[in-house]
Formats: sequence, C-alpha cells, structure tokens
Amino acid sequence: MPDVFAELVGQDDAVGTLRRAAASAAAVLRAAHLPAPAGTVDDPDDDLAALAEADEDAAAGSTAPAVDPGAGMTHAWIFTGPPGSGRSVAARAFAAALQCVHGTGCGTCPGCHTTLTGTHADVRLVAPEGLSIGVGEMRALVLRAASTPSGGRWQVVIIEDADRLTEAAGNALLKAVEEPPPRTVFLLCAPSTHPEDVSVTIRSRCRVVPLRQPSAAAVADVLVRRDGIAPDVAQWAAAAAQGHVGRARRLARDPEARQRRDAVLAVPRRLTGVGTALDAASALIEAAEAEAAASVAESDVAERAALQTALGAGGTGRGAAGATRGSAGQLKDLEKRQKSRATRAQRDALDRALVDLAGFYRDALTSALRAPVAPVHTDTATLAEAGGQKWAPEGALRRLEAVLECRAAIEANVKPRIAVEAMMLSLWRG
Ligand SMILES: [Zn+2]
Repeated sequence: MPDVFAELVGQDDAVGTLRRAAASAAAVLRAAHLPAPAGTVDDPDDDLAALAEADEDAAAGSTAPAVDPGAGMTHAWIFTGPPGSGRSVAARAFAAALQCVHGTGCGTCPGCHTTLTGTHADVRLVAPEGLSIGVGEMRALVLRAASTPSGGRWQVVIIEDADRLTEAAGNALLKAVEEPPPRTVFLLCAPSTHPEDVSVTIRSRCRVVPLRQPSAAAVADVLVRRDGIAPDVAQWAAAAAQGHVGRARRLARDPEARQRRDAVLAVPRRLTGVGTALDAASALIEAAEAEAAASVAESDVAERAALQTALGAGGTGRGAAGATRGSAGQLKDLEKRQKSRATRAQRDALDRALVDLAGFYRDALTSALRAPVAPVHTDTATLAEAGGQKWAPEGALRRLEAVLECRAAIEANVKPRIAVEAMMLSLWRG
C-alpha cells in the first residue's frame, strides 16, 4: 500500500528524514498522552518540554531505542529544491504523517486523507496568489496557528513559496518560529536557503530538508506507474520537463501545453534579423499572457460572482445604497488581488517558456562540446546539434547565458517585454 511519501519522486534521503521525524513526533504525542498522576492539571508546557527533550535526546544520540540520532521532531522546517522537485508535495506528505492516526503517514486513515485533500482542521496552507505574501495574512495565520489543535495532534502551517514573504510578513513569522506554541509546526517551502529566499534568522530556527532535481528516469517511472502514461511518451516528457514532475505530466497529457512548447522551440530557427527577433519577443510575451489569462479567467469570474452575491447585489431595500458604497471598496480589493495573481501567472508562463528555450541552447552547447549527456529536448536534438556546429561551444554558451540572464532580469522586476526583446536580439546576434 503506497503511503503519503510515495508521491515524492527520487527523494530517498528526504523521505528517510521525514519518516524518522514523524515517528519521533508520534512518540512525543504518546508521551504527552500518558495518564497524568491524579490531581495534576494538564499543562500544555509539558508538551513543549517533551518536544525539547526529544530534540535533545536526538541531538545527544540518546540510547532511547525509538529515536535515531538526528531524527528528532522539531517545530520549524524548510523544504528546499528547484521548482518541480516536490517541495510542497513533501511538506503536505509530512503534514499528513504528523496528523496520521498511526503516526506514519499511512495514506488511508482520516488524518492522512483530510490533510492530503486540504480539509484537515489543523492544517493550514498559505500559497501566494500574487507576487508576495503580506503581513496581514501572515499575522492572522500565526494567531490561528497558536490555538490548540482540535484533532489533538499538531497545528501544521505550510507556507508555499516562503521566498515571497514580504519583509514585514517574514518578521511576523519569525516571532512565531522563535517562540513556537507547543503543538505548532511550521513547514516552509523555498527554492534555497540563500538569504534572498529565506532570512538568515528564520533559517537558523529551521531544520532544512533539501530536495534534489529528480532524474528523468525517476520522473518517467512515476508517470507510467501512477498516471498510466505510455512509456515512450513518459520518457520524452520527463526529459523535456527537466526534472519538473508536474510539468512532465502536463506535457504528457495536455496537447495545448505541447503546442506552446513547440512554438517556443521554433524560435531559434526563426531568428534571421532584428525584425524577426522583435516579432519573436512579441509572440512569446503574448503567448504567456494568453496562457495566463486562460488559467485565471475561471476563478476571477467565480470570485466576483461570489462576492456580489455575498454583498447582496441588486438589493433595493432600505440600506441597499449604503451597502453598495461599502461593496465598491471590497470589489476594488478583489480586483487588485486578481490583477496581482494574473501578473504572477504571466510570469510563471513566461518562465516555463524560457526554461524550454534554455534547454534547447543547453543541448546545442553539450552537442558542440561532444559531451556524453542525453539531450533535454529529444525532438529538437538534430536542430540543436546543427546550431552547436554553427555556433561552436562559445556561441552556444553565449546564447544559453542570454536566456538565463532574461530569467534573472524578469525575476528582478525588469519589464518582461524589455528583457525578452534584449534576449531575442542577443540570440540572433549570438
Ligand atoms: Zn494515516
């Protein structure tokens, strides 16, 4: 029977760490639930003491048989790894193991099931829809996280994209992580523990679980095994997605995603002059905008309708005029949130295209160097090889760098169109 960690592809070390920690957490709960001597009041600080002891035992390599050295449970964790390596999958799986009635993450009990489906009362997930996570959201979360877990186990807070916390939000989180409520566990996900991603002070309070980019073989295997995708399609998609499990699945299943990728990979041979380079830039930007618009359109409409219903749109009774005045502000807030989400979706779509493009020039480079590595894009390998011969390793490397610089510029808030135009001109000039 596959347990909650089965979804983590090619991450044996991390899974081992998390299994040991879950066992240690279950031991803490068992110790806390031992019948208290008559007359004593259940003191929540006892849990903290038990947790601290478990940590100390682990650190000291205690002889307690159930706890491995370094396996202790702790209050704050950071899952790091490249996009698509499964940071949030790992955080959710660990959350499920903490809520599992067997303490293992069996995958079938109510604790596991409700955590994985997002309905567990003691598991909260923060995923920024816009470009950042604000202080208001973080304060509210920290406050709720301090309450006693209703299920009697742990309050778990998962923060996806913790690198998108605003400074103020980071400070609010830091306070909670520095003095954690006894039964609260924070699970942060970030690309790395670089100070630009996670502040040094938060990092110093957390245990780090590094995830690696899974191999194409491991990704292909899971597509075949779990999603029933044909092996040849799975192998192509796994290589093309460069270790990103979700992207591989989408490429294998979604014809539109394949078409978008084909259009991106057609860019290199189209660049014949300044005009075509600028045209290619426009096409790339517009494709990202269209993809993003399609991805948010449905939720935008649904949210607006829900808010209007909640505000009693169309009411004519006494007070309706006042309600309308108040609701204008709420609609404005909603529009602002939706705009921020759309911007984020556009950047994500553009970044996917740039990663595909970088893969092409990487193939050209490895081919020019005659490096014995498999191409990222098997379907454009011949074209990349021809490019590699024409450009020599230096030319292929300059082009690859132009794509990576474009990604970095957009990340640093350069206007996407300007960054992409500059990149296309560099790709054409070489
Ligand atoms: Zn379970």
